[in-house]
Amino acid sequence: MGSGYVYHCPDCGEATYVALGIGSEYTPIKVFYGDDVDPPLLKDFLPDLQYRTAALLLQSGGVPDTTHPGCYGQKLYYCPHCRILKVKFFCTIVKNKQSWNPVYTCELCGRSLILAPNQENGDDPSRDQMAGADGEVLRIRCMKCKRIYFAPESGCTSKILWD
Ligand SMILES: [Zn+2]
Ligand SMILES: [Zn+2]
Repeated sequence: MGSGYVYHCPDCGEATYVALGIGSEYTPIKVFYGDDVDPPLLKDFLPDLQYRTAALLLQSGGVPDTTHPGCYGQKLYYCPHCRILKVKFFCTIVKNKQSWNPVYTCELCGRSLILAPNQENGDDPSRDQMAGADGEVLRIRCMKCKRIYFAPESGCTSKILWD
């Protein structure tokens, strides 16, 4: 079960939907391997280049980490420069004792996104998680008017569980 949070832009009211965690239907098999009918969900979750790397690892003996809740799923990332939050798919594939995780870049400045801290449970963007490892607050960028705002200040208007 994942958690969803909706924030509204203080200027234009546009909603930003933050869906974290993983649906209960998204079993490790469905996510990483797929079946005869469906390709792995990973294909939808990752950018093309990242997916190809992941698929190659899995085909050549790589093993996805599925040992504990929160070891794969949608998580909060942020840009260390723009301080903007992004929801991206996190997973770990281990091969030859080396761990691989997908990497993402900021669409504004091109820097590598960093996983937001304190996401052990994978599904609770509390105030703590609205800060980066250096304690500086992270913000949401309105996709409509481009206004950048601090999510807890604007107030999360609804909290939903998704499946
Ligand atoms: Zn950036
Ligand atoms: Zn806006």
